[in-house]
Amino acid sequence: MRQHFIYLLCFLFLSSSLPIVQVNAAEEKSKEKIYEERLEIYKRVEMVTHIPWYYIAAIDQYERNIRSVRNDLRKPTSLSGILFTDEKWAGYINPNPLDENPKSIRFFGGIGSDGNGDNKASKTNDEDVLFSFANYLTQYGTDHSSIKIGLWDYYKRDKTVSIINGFAKLYKQYGTINLDERRFPLPLRANYTYRSTWGDARGWGGRRIHEGTDIFASYGVNVYSTCYGVIEMKGWNKYGGWRIGIRDTNNTYHYFAHLNGFAKDIKVGDIVEPGQLIGSVGSSGYGPPGTAGKFPPHLHFGLYKDNGRTEWSFDPYPYLKRWERETKKGQRKR
Ligand SMILES: [Zn+2]
Repeated sequence: MRQHFIYLLCFLFLSSSLPIVQVNAAEEKSKEKIYEERLEIYKRVEMVTHIPWYYIAAIDQYERNIRSVRNDLRKPTSLSGILFTDEKWAGYINPNPLDENPKSIRFFGGIGSDGNGDNKASKTNDEDVLFSFANYLTQYGTDHSSIKIGLWDYYKRDKTVSIINGFAKLYKQYGTINLDERRFPLPLRANYTYRSTWGDARGWGGRRIHEGTDIFASYGVNVYSTCYGVIEMKGWNKYGGWRIGIRDTNNTYHYFAHLNGFAKDIKVGDIVEPGQLIGSVGSSGYGPPGTAGKFPPHLHFGLYKDNGRTEWSFDPYPYLKRWERETKKGQRKR
């Protein structure tokens, strides 16, 4: 009883005296540390399975994101984001759905196997979980096209396979899984204005709601990528005009529309980074290819989230505000 009381006192003392700044710094540090620990496990799994670490990282990241936006799935609490059902792990015909014995799991066709060498296939052990997924892929092979087939057999969704491949491409290119940097899509020195209009009614082409933020600026002002990502779409659409779509490693789709034109030498499938030139502000759209000038020039910027089944728009305005601040701060440091 007395001990409890002392704990309580300590807790009260700590929580009241810790300055908020320090807590934030600790959080920031632990995020870096988590990335480091994850990368370590991915590389250990690669050593045993020969599945390149960036594929393992990409699958793990995809699953973590899906779980964070879906209400029917448990939120990720450990280093790994991959979630297996009891049946998938232990095998559908296994009489014991909580089986942790690698031999009987294999006998019943479960995916669970032992990655950390303790002779247990534990669904709550990060190394076992990641190893099990990589081990499953090795049945198909360890090269790019074999992994793709293995992923398709697992997810049965083309979009998921291409999203995971995109993440893998980014991780491989930059040699890190920390690709969270964002920036404002326009040069800060340009003259531009924007306000929050997400959800407003839009007339042209039937009843629609405004799925984005309009940043008004002059023709030809540079438009930059807001994130590390892969170009998923580029071309004409009767609403968006010349537009481009980039998916970041949080499985968020960044959409840039009404462009005047695109940056040279960028194509679907290419990797881009924050601040990379992708096009310029224009007024294209609301008609057949080439239509322009039906409204004042602006960048229409949208954000969409994918949950493994569908995709929906959310308000980019608060993010633009934050990225504008961060870009300003970053430029002052340089
Ligand atoms: Zn718009």
